[in-house]
Amino acid sequence: MSKKILFSLVLLLTGFISFSQLYRKPVYPQNYFRWVTNLNPDIVANMGELRPNHWHMGLDVRTNQVVNQNVYAAADGYIAFVGIESLSWGRWIIINHPNGLSTLYGHLNDFRDDLEKYVTELQYQNESWETHLTIPPGKFLVKKGDFISFSGTTGGSGGPHVHWEIIDTKSGRRLNPTLFGTPIVDNVPPAIIKMAMYDRSNSVYDQSPSIFSLSKAGGVYSVAGGTINTNLKKLSFSIQAYDIRNGTSNQDGIYSARLFVDNKEISSFYIDSIDYADSRYMNCQVDYRMISFGSSWMQHTSKLPGDLSGVYYDLGENSIISLSDTLTRNVRIEVADANGNVSTINFSVKNNGGTAPAAKIYEWWPGRPNRLIKSAFEASLPLNALYDKMNTGYTSMPSASLNSVSARHKLGETYIPVHSNYEVKIKPDKYISPENRNRIVIKRIGKNTIIRKASWTGEWLTAQFRDFGTFEAFIDNVPPSVNSLGAGEIVNLNKATRITFTPTDNYGIASFRAELDGEWLRFTNDKGRTWIYNFDNRVTPGQHTLTVIITDIAGNVTRRSWQFVRGVNPPPAAAASSPAINESKKPAVKKTVAPAKVAPAKTGSKSPAAKKATTSKTPSKAAGKETGKKSGTAKAISDKKETVSGKKATAAKSTSATKKTVDKKPAEKSSSTKKTTTTKKK
Ligand SMILES: [Zn+2]
Repeated sequence: MSKKILFSLVLLLTGFISFSQLYRKPVYPQNYFRWVTNLNPDIVANMGELRPNHWHMGLDVRTNQVVNQNVYAAADGYIAFVGIESLSWGRWIIINHPNGLSTLYGHLNDFRDDLEKYVTELQYQNESWETHLTIPPGKFLVKKGDFISFSGTTGGSGGPHVHWEIIDTKSGRRLNPTLFGTPIVDNVPPAIIKMAMYDRSNSVYDQSPSIFSLSKAGGVYSVAGGTINTNLKKLSFSIQAYDIRNGTSNQDGIYSARLFVDNKEISSFYIDSIDYADSRYMNCQVDYRMISFGSSWMQHTSKLPGDLSGVYYDLGENSIISLSDTLTRNVRIEVADANGNVSTINFSVKNNGGTAPAAKIYEWWPGRPNRLIKSAFEASLPLNALYDKMNTGYTSMPSASLNSVSARHKLGETYIPVHSNYEVKIKPDKYISPENRNRIVIKRIGKNTIIRKASWTGEWLTAQFRDFGTFEAFIDNVPPSVNSLGAGEIVNLNKATRITFTPTDNYGIASFRAELDGEWLRFTNDKGRTWIYNFDNRVTPGQHTLTVIITDIAGNVTRRSWQFVRGVNPPPAAAASSPAINESKKPAVKKTVAPAKVAPAKTGSKSPAAKKATTSKTPSKAAGKETGKKSGTAKAISDKKETVSGKKATAAKSTSATKKTVDKKPAEKSSSTKKTTTTKKK
């Protein structure tokens, strides 16, 4: 092959590669899906809305602020997965359609009768309220428009609505539902609030960007004076923008932003297809540091080095604006919604010949494993944990906190996001008795506290974390507390409609299990705090024993039992108002009970078994993981705390763990959880 041909081939290939990096809008079937309610079609959130630690991955379908509205299958198919979780989508259904797509319906209340019965049976079989079921294809066929469930506000929802997603069945990727054609009218372009400029010779986490307010003239946004003069040589921009629709004050997420320099597109992002596994890259698209300081949610138009989300289309290094001379460049940023309405920012940028800020030296880099090794602290970050360069900023100070067994180790900054779990190792600086060795937690102190049970590696304590902050190890040998079932030796539940337990713990509850006469009894745990049993035919008329077994993160177990009657008159002895003997041991009938101070070291000192593989995220993988273990258990009669061997602590529920929380933000209600004033929801 001649040199010339080879050269042309290389040129062709390079050309092809940069061409392939340009974006092509996907063509999806139009109006294949019907609206999932019979209510007036409206949404309270779209795909791409910015939420804590993720993009919103579908539409939040309005249900007029009430629950129990009929939800219908969007197209023909079969119910393929069902899930029940404390947070996330709460109670949800996935339907597979014959065209290779699936649809998800979340935050539901009761499913249609036959499905509800089927799920209940499997919950009892698996002894787990939390559910991830794969359903055989022929079992629940649906026609477009068939009733499948009542709507609700279960899971991580703050107000009644249906969370609805379109999924590519094979890959599991979430596709932007607006691109499929919906009855939602939108011919209003997005609003752009402001713009920020970054020095890309340095880490974006190591600077306060220059902020530019924008004004609109002749339908086009620009900066004051039309030109930005800067000493930066390598720079990029972020924008704060949201989409607007006809007849609503709702602020939706934008679909795309495209960055042009002298009319050449150098970078762009599009929210049209995202894998749930990549949804955390939202932290990389936004200026995370700015959010951490309580300011605006701004989206980078040029991706950060560690971004592997796939939402960006760029020219690699050339997606950063380079000002190697003092020529004036035209910059245009086009912001669009998924209906094709576009808003444009147009301005010039020029290097003013001033000295650019020096490029700093950083300890840790994205795209490679990073490690810190100190005498009593170690951190090991895997390959793709970071989005941009950083310094560890490690410091350590002794701690005199109660039950602390280590110094306080500070790593990184809470305004620097971490993409994946990484290992933290702490060497204790205090004596730990043998009986306490298996009762240690590591606490991450930061914006929010995260507690993990520590395991031992030699003389080091280890746990996985997904945030930076300050880390400290504690002994926890205090078992959880729980409210009493009621007063009396035999509690009279004839007038009760349900049983409610709200356990509390100094570091966090890991699991809850209830048994009726030794058999698992289903308590629901929507939103993760309170366990509820609504009386059904599982409690037959007569006298019963109810036992609860509660395990905390460290593995301490509280087990309590009560006798109760329902549907019959209580025996005379119990009906008498003051059963003498046990009185002193009985806590008052209250929702929250004072924690038992006692907690002798022996209490619940056996293994917790609080880890169970039920929390898998992808429905296809998660199904059928619950082990259907039965175990006859001795009935404890008296109302007191007991030591327990931990053999039954199966239904793991990691409350403090950061599970996938899909719909943190309240829908349809003006409230608070996240954004700044400019992007707040109604
Ligand atoms: Zn939602």
